[in-house]
Amino acid sequence: MSREAVQKTRSLRERDADTIAEIARLRFSPLSLIGGRGSRLIEEGGREILDLSASAGSASLGYGHPAVVEAVTEATRDMAGASLLLYPNENAVSLAETLLAVTPGEGARKVWFGHSGSDANDCAVRVLQAATGRSRFISFIGSYHGNLSGSMAVSGHTAMTHTLPRPGLVLLPYPEPFRPRFTADAVLDMLDYQFETTCPPHQVAAVFIEPLMSDGGLIVPPPGFLKALADRCRRHGIRIVVDEVKVGLGRSGLMHCFEHEGLAPDMVVLGKGLGGGLPLSAVVGPREIMDHAPAFALQTTAGNPVTTAAGRAVVETVARERLWERAARVGQVFSDGLRALAERHEIIGDVRGRGLAVGVDLVADRESRAPVPVSTTAKVIYRGYELGAAFSYVGLKGNVLEFTPPLTLTEAEALEGVAIVDRALADVAAGRVSDEAVAPFMMW
Ligand code: PMP
Repeated sequence: MSREAVQKTRSLRERDADTIAEIARLRFSPLSLIGGRGSRLIEEGGREILDLSASAGSASLGYGHPAVVEAVTEATRDMAGASLLLYPNENAVSLAETLLAVTPGEGARKVWFGHSGSDANDCAVRVLQAATGRSRFISFIGSYHGNLSGSMAVSGHTAMTHTLPRPGLVLLPYPEPFRPRFTADAVLDMLDYQFETTCPPHQVAAVFIEPLMSDGGLIVPPPGFLKALADRCRRHGIRIVVDEVKVGLGRSGLMHCFEHEGLAPDMVVLGKGLGGGLPLSAVVGPREIMDHAPAFALQTTAGNPVTTAAGRAVVETVARERLWERAARVGQVFSDGLRALAERHEIIGDVRGRGLAVGVDLVADRESRAPVPVSTTAKVIYRGYELGAAFSYVGLKGNVLEFTPPLTLTEAEALEGVAIVDRALADVAAGRVSDEAVAPFMMW
């Protein structure tokens, strides 16, 4: 049989299962794609699916946005292969200038470009250690900063089953308003205790902060907590790194999520939506650190004219159209709609987030707030897919529905999404999705 004939008899999903490494796949539903337009994905067979996750936040302007398409097409026709590590190119330098202009910060700063949130946080770890001569870091239980050796080793996520935390890493609990096992004050106290005992602060290069914990469960920190933590660290010369990879560039309802927390980071890490779907990440940091050449964070195709053309299109569109305001407005409609569902669905324990980063915490029991088993979350997602929407789950217990739709989502699409979640919850409660159906879609 010819290759074309084989392809016709086997679905994309089957071929995916046979060829794409399991270590590189997170499949939340049987959805396989043949296209995308705006906030819609087109699945094999032609059905349209409302994308309430924007491919984990990377399709920040949706699919096929004309600004991205035009910029990338032009750059691809031009000097697509030109490496920033050998020669400056207009798109990279101009995007760096824009990022420096839109990112608040003190003193002279510079920009590093990479391909993913993972490599950007990895770079931050390496350059901070090399430039400060301090080798310890602080981060949070539940945090996810990436999956390269450096970035995963400063994370505190259950996905790290085969990666040990970095030696000397201090992992703090992220105070969770919905399940206040550790209050903000208790966590600050723990930090002080670490400084007084086993972790002399002069050994610590930086603290890695997610201003809204994403993969750890879409957790908005208690007001004032991150500022108090950052102030304590800064007193000891510890640098503040803010990981904006999932929630930055307009998604939270402000240009940068850290602005909600009154943080003044030394270093800001951007990724996902920065490239509007193309592989692009950036670190914005103090010149004296970013110019520390022995840290050697070069990659041949980083900052190339094509990915940075996409980045320019995204950042310029977000700024010109003030998409953070739209994210705040449409996000409000979306989360109000989801909150109203809580009146009918006992399983909804909490609806939280900022702008178009919204989480729905599913509970087995409202009194104890015990999380539902992950199979229940998976069923809601599966049914949501059958009804025409794509979304996924996060949280160390896998019980939080995560919504990070394109920033271009309309109010009508937000309401359509709420209606689908409503029906999906009702159908799961009525036992319409079997354990067998979701067995292939439970990651951990
Ligand atoms: N940081 C945060 C906050 C993230 O949410 C993620 C991905 N979920 C990463 C870093 C890693 O990004 P990437 O998958 O692009 O490497």
